[in-house]
Amino acid sequence: MNPLSEESKKRLTKYMDGCAHIWVRDGHVSHHTCSECGEELSVRKEFLPKMRSFTTGNDMLDLKNKLVEMGEWKEFTIYTWKLHHGHPHTKYCYSSNKERIRENYTAWLFLMPRFAELVDEFLKEKEKSHE
Ligand SMILES: [Zn+2]
Repeated sequence: MNPLSEESKKRLTKYMDGCAHIWVRDGHVSHHTCSECGEELSVRKEFLPKMRSFTTGNDMLDLKNKLVEMGEWKEFTIYTWKLHHGHPHTKYCYSSNKERIRENYTAWLFLMPRFAELVDEFLKEKEKSHE
């Protein structure tokens, strides 16, 4: 699996926090303003919050909780279920054993960075359908 692109990290961060802040120093050494949303922060550059890497289990849990909070969990799982079935590495999932299929799907889904990639793909699809 490839690491997430900067564009993907930005999309996921916006989804999680409303803005993927771009901090710009404005005169004072320790005063920064976000060029995207205008939020202000009075900390030195080295203490500015860093964008999440979306590689950890905590990020996965936060993304899952956000999907639930937004009422999009069901739609997301339907989307990933379809991908899972068409995925070349999960052909074994065309099993007659339904229990086995569910087990494999769950194990396939809850793995980083795949989970974050899937949320990113899901968000991209939603953006497309809203254009
Ligand atoms: Zn911002």
